[in-house]
Amino acid sequence: MNIDERVVAGIINAVLDRLDDVSNPCADAGGGNWGVFESMDDAVEAAAAAQKKYLNCTMHDRAAYVQAIRDVVLNQENLEYISRQSVEETEMGNYEHKLIKNRLAATKTPGIEDLTTDAMTGDDGLTLVEYSPFGVIGAITPTTNPTETIICNSIGMLAAGNSVVFSPHPRAKNVSLHLVRLINRALAEVGAPANLVVTVSKPSIENTNAMMNHPLVRMLVATGGPGIVKTVLSSGKKAIGAGAGNPPVVVDETANIEKAGKDIIDGCCFDNNLPCIAEKEVIVVDSAADYLIFNMKKNGAYEVKDPEIIDKIVKLVVQENGKSPVTSFVGKSAKYILEQVGVHVDEDVRVIIMQTNENHPFVQVELMMPILPIVRVPDVDAGIEMAVRVEHGNRHTAMMHSRNVDKLTKMAKLIQTTIFVKNGPSYAGIGVGGEGYTTFTIAGPTGEGLTSAKSFARRRRCVLVGGMDVR
Ligand code: NAD
Repeated sequence: MNIDERVVAGIINAVLDRLDDVSNPCADAGGGNWGVFESMDDAVEAAAAAQKKYLNCTMHDRAAYVQAIRDVVLNQENLEYISRQSVEETEMGNYEHKLIKNRLAATKTPGIEDLTTDAMTGDDGLTLVEYSPFGVIGAITPTTNPTETIICNSIGMLAAGNSVVFSPHPRAKNVSLHLVRLINRALAEVGAPANLVVTVSKPSIENTNAMMNHPLVRMLVATGGPGIVKTVLSSGKKAIGAGAGNPPVVVDETANIEKAGKDIIDGCCFDNNLPCIAEKEVIVVDSAADYLIFNMKKNGAYEVKDPEIIDKIVKLVVQENGKSPVTSFVGKSAKYILEQVGVHVDEDVRVIIMQTNENHPFVQVELMMPILPIVRVPDVDAGIEMAVRVEHGNRHTAMMHSRNVDKLTKMAKLIQTTIFVKNGPSYAGIGVGGEGYTTFTIAGPTGEGLTSAKSFARRRRCVLVGGMDVR
């Protein structure tokens, strides 16, 4: 698309948003505006009414609704608009990579085929165990993947027969509301019950709390940091928690070092390191370290050696508590971060690297920006032990580059992460250049792992006594 078409697409989308704000002839009785409600109570009640109607729809209908969500996101104009708006509104991430992530969510999130039925037959008859909906799900979404999470949760939750109330991050409000409206229009066009996917016009912590406490919300799904995961797990409701990570990469002397250097940089710089799965620190055996660093630099890494500049960057991007990143630097580019400390580099610099020890804040803090510390270890066993420590028991994601099957197995067993990528970039773990489906809600703390439709469903048994077996 050239610049003029982009401007036109932006104006059309902005006008549609404005029209929605003012009046919408299809607005429902609860005051909904293509799924966007003034009050959380109205949003939840509308979603509950929609889910009741949804129970009478066929699996064929469900498949059509899921396809409508995929199609509306894959419409090139919409895809470009939500990707650009995500970057502009949150001031995080990279437009080209958002395009890839949104397209990935729309194409590779499983639909109704995920809901497999178990059957047991015998002298006493036929018993079925099926995945059936929870009802209304409350889904809390992060700033780092605002649209990707709404796409992926909408597909999975609707495939499983639920309706969903979204509580987006306030800093991603406009793009999240826009996407909810797009999804509602697309669902209306294929005849779905209104309000299967809803949200509120002013997302806030108060509204999130109201959603979590509403008696009609049967399940909570939180994709975010440790605070919100803890909150949903304390709610007394069925909850899925997809929380923080701090993914280490271990490289040993048996690895293909040229490939490891490239894979690590490709994974680390993806969407400016926003994905919770992205490489956050490298642990390398001493004998392979120099060649690995050489190959990282060959692939767009810029090494900062001056300890004073490293300290300046620490002060800039890590909060005084030493535990959290400074939000205004999350998802910023390597070039931007370096410029703030007076270092000017070319556009092709994708990641800032430096050699540190294990206790350095860049190793310990989940930064979510393209800053990648490198720690040397004497041997691979020491590296695996360090990786387990710096992952902080999140059990989220880890990577290893090695050709030693025993050591790959050892690390996989000890680190216990939901995703463990061997000899590839982190994003291979969510289906980009690696086998398998995708998700943007990776539930380590509650154990669902890479969530899909069946994660949002209840197992129910249906027993027919006598007959129906044909053996
Ligand atoms: P965040 O925790 O600040 O916000 C996440 C969501 O929770 C937002 O909608 C926010 O409004 C809400 N929220 C936060 N605290 C709340 C409270 N006390 N009461 C009510 N609502 C509250 O996280 P973020 O900065 O948007 O996202 C980054 C974090 O999310 C990182 O830690 C990252 O690893 C994690 N993450 C995890 C996954 C996963 O699949 N495991 C995916 C994406 C992001």
